[in-house]
Amino acid sequence: MASVAMVDLKTQYQKLKPEMDAAIAGVLQETAFILGKRAEDFEKKFAEYCGTAHCIAVGNGTDAIGMALQAIGIKAGDEVITTPYTFFATVEGIIECGAVPKLVDIDPATFCIDPKAVEAAITPKTRAIIPVHLYGQLCDMKSIMTIAKKHNLKVMEDSAQAHGATDGGKRAGSFGDAATFSFYPGKNLGAYGDAGAVVTNTQTVADHVRLTRNHGSSVKYFHHAIGRNSRLDGIQAAVLSVKLPHLDAWNKRRVQLATTYNKAIKEIAQKCSVPIVCPEIHDGGRHVFHLYTLRAPQRDALKEHLVKEGIEVAVHYPMALHQQQALKHLGMRDGSLPNAEKASKEVLSIPLCPELTDANQRKVIDAISAFYSK
Ligand SMILES: *Cc1c(COP(=O)(O)O)cnc(C)c1O
Repeated sequence: MASVAMVDLKTQYQKLKPEMDAAIAGVLQETAFILGKRAEDFEKKFAEYCGTAHCIAVGNGTDAIGMALQAIGIKAGDEVITTPYTFFATVEGIIECGAVPKLVDIDPATFCIDPKAVEAAITPKTRAIIPVHLYGQLCDMKSIMTIAKKHNLKVMEDSAQAHGATDGGKRAGSFGDAATFSFYPGKNLGAYGDAGAVVTNTQTVADHVRLTRNHGSSVKYFHHAIGRNSRLDGIQAAVLSVKLPHLDAWNKRRVQLATTYNKAIKEIAQKCSVPIVCPEIHDGGRHVFHLYTLRAPQRDALKEHLVKEGIEVAVHYPMALHQQQALKHLGMRDGSLPNAEKASKEVLSIPLCPELTDANQRKVIDAISAFYSK
């Protein structure tokens, strides 16, 4: 095992152990394994946290995307504009609806979708925009909402990496018509298995997702629509309810670690005259650093060096979506989305999680310094 890990869920569990064990034991006693009171409790608390009227907890973040898009009215043949620089699940949700993903380039400064590119891609078939708050950083939601209003489009925020990110007092997930979250274990708020949620302020959207996640049924064995099985289970609900009160403190620690990295790495860049690019840190919590991702000269050699030093690193993501085998049918050639393609060759995520110790962060910084001083 790497001596400095990207994610340290073991240490996190040790800190929460008494409360966590009691909560999980409670579910076993209650034998309420699917949805139930603990899921309802979590839905209420998470909606409140996001500042939305509704939260519907589902099986995972990917299902959440497909169901949220259906609920806001996306149908076969519609076009949905999104970023080519995201986890694959974002487009799976679009394709699942029979809709067509229209991938437009990112802003190289933020890695998030470029609002100007969004506006340029709108056609009479466009129905929605999916901004993805990549690495934990909110997209330029002001511009995106303005464009959506002007062209009468829906906005569905993929907030899987941005639990708690805030701009002007508004949280990730509260800007658009609906938003989705993943509680995959390594996310800023993570379950002990698969879990996800849709949040929205619109009653009809909430009702639609609530019905869809449970076989189109609100009364057992009476089905109003074709749905699916995608429900939060009781154990995940208990785990998430134990963790949610810690989310803000964990995000604060993430920003603190990012601030330390930025200062140290900018010094290395200057000392060694290498153009390493650090993420921008804004006041007010727009970035909750799900990932701390650099643009690193000689990226692959640096990666190899850090791994050799026992430091776990990752490339998020090594290929833009339009270059993926599974999306060749979109017919987009290499070179068509240059900012996303360039990012895929330059980015490197280094360890950052709330449990990362100052001493281990120092090891990472020293190893980066040693590499570029050679
Ligand atoms: C993790 C993630 C998802 C998928 O969530 P799952 O819970 O793993 O299905 C979707 N979009 C983005 C941007 C993600 O990072």
